[in-house]
Amino acid sequence: MAILNNRLSSAEYEQNFADIHPPFETADAALVEANRCLFCYDAPCMKSCPTSIDVPKFIKQITTGNIKGSAHTIFHSNIMGAGCSKVCPVEKLCEGACVFNLMEEEPISIAKLQRYSTEKAMENNWQLFKRKASTGKKVAVVGAGPAGLSCAHMLSREGVDVTIYERESQGGGLMTFGIAAYKVTPQFCQDEVDYITAIGGIEIKYNQELGKEISLPELQKNYSAVYLGIGVGLARRLDIPGEDLEGVTDALQFIYGIRDKGFEKVPVGDKVAVIGMGMTAIDAATQAKRLGAKEVTLVYRRTENEKPCTQVELDIAKIDGCKFIWLAAPKEVIGENGKVKELICNVMQLGEPDASGRRSPVETGETITLNVDMVIKAAGQTAFEELLQKNGIENRAGKIVLKQNCETNITGVFAGGDAVNGGKEVVDAVQDGKDGAAAILSFLKI
Ligand SMILES: Cc1cc2nc3c(=O)[nH]c(=O)nc-3n(C[C@H](O)[C@H](O)[C@H](O)COP(=O)(O)OP(=O)(O)OC[C@H]3O[C@@H](n4cnc5c(N)ncnc54)[C@H](O)[C@@H]3O)c2cc1C
Ligand code: SF4
Repeated sequence: MAILNNRLSSAEYEQNFADIHPPFETADAALVEANRCLFCYDAPCMKSCPTSIDVPKFIKQITTGNIKGSAHTIFHSNIMGAGCSKVCPVEKLCEGACVFNLMEEEPISIAKLQRYSTEKAMENNWQLFKRKASTGKKVAVVGAGPAGLSCAHMLSREGVDVTIYERESQGGGLMTFGIAAYKVTPQFCQDEVDYITAIGGIEIKYNQELGKEISLPELQKNYSAVYLGIGVGLARRLDIPGEDLEGVTDALQFIYGIRDKGFEKVPVGDKVAVIGMGMTAIDAATQAKRLGAKEVTLVYRRTENEKPCTQVELDIAKIDGCKFIWLAAPKEVIGENGKVKELICNVMQLGEPDASGRRSPVETGETITLNVDMVIKAAGQTAFEELLQKNGIENRAGKIVLKQNCETNITGVFAGGDAVNGGKEVVDAVQDGKDGAAAILSFLKI
């Protein structure tokens, strides 16, 4: 596999990884866009936002020059409103619900307007929430990702002292380690964590892993409640021959390398196959291409109709020049001198519909061979099943099972985010964090 040190110039890397959704260039441009909004009384955009941000209200506040009020409206519902404005797949959320779509006009640029207000708030360090007097209650949150941070902020607002235990040396979770570098920068992620914790009453202890440096019984003994926002783990194994050859890598490790080591230091092949068609697969494929890979092919075992990514994401990969092979499943990776040389795939077809009407792919008996020097696995992630089993936390294949009030089967231990839903979006994890905090406040009778 080629090491791409200096294959592209620094300027080319910068250009390839530049902000994919740039902000408004002027305040006037934001004002013009805000004034397009019809301020619908039933606000379908608000209903389609998992955190129920009052979209018409914050846009109206922009039109009247009340940017601080607008940022308050957003952060009141979603303390990661700045990050969400950069990463939310809005085409299937708020913007997808905008009535302008019905009129075959461009929907209001809700995310861009959200970015406009929240960026101003972060740049000026406007602290829009005041922490209530201390209740004397202490809560431990495990994981400094969107779910954990959102839970911590809401608890802190109500006067609870929160300690977050994070196994990495930085906060932000997959926002920092997973999401494509052309959506958010590491600096922005750090700024967002700092902005959230600036409310006070939240301490983050880094390099503290549940199951290693800390244990659940210890947390239960020292805190009134525990919230688990640990997300999901590494990429699922393919369990095919050749999977451990040099050049086969996990999408998260690959993406994390770009964020952590920098563009020049991440090895990428000339001919790359990416297994999967979810958001992670698209992010890995587009970034491999932007690092200078000559050919990137996404391989998916179902048809385009069943793709888990959105059309907008697929279009990004198309524009980046990625290729697609539908109805193909990896069978074997062939190597030479310990390195990847070929990927053999079973050709699939859709079988008979099951009880739910879903048609699963079945092998046709034919195979295809791709000449590749890198294979990136992005066919889902495995949850922390072992950690949960060891701690007696009820789960289904690693997804934590909750009672109605966000509580696990263990009294006083709550959970949310990817660890429960198996992997959705940042905005869903933020809402889960809010729900978890509300449940904890009720448990603590605050
Ligand atoms: C490649 C990729 C791209 C994505 N792109 C987008 C996107 O563009 N837009 C979008 O909205 N969503 C995207 N997502 C999904 C989104 O990142 C997640 O849904 C969201 O981050 C989930 O938040 P969380 O807090 O539940 O978990 P995480 O973000 O995973 O945070 C969990 C935190 O817990 C820590 N942790 C784990 N185990 C332990 C332990 N034992 N002890 C202590 N700490 C622990 C982790 O280090 C991490 O910081 C993407 C996901 C991936 C993988
Ligand atoms: S948080 Fe995301 S879904 Fe909600 S209004 Fe903002 S951009 Fe839209």
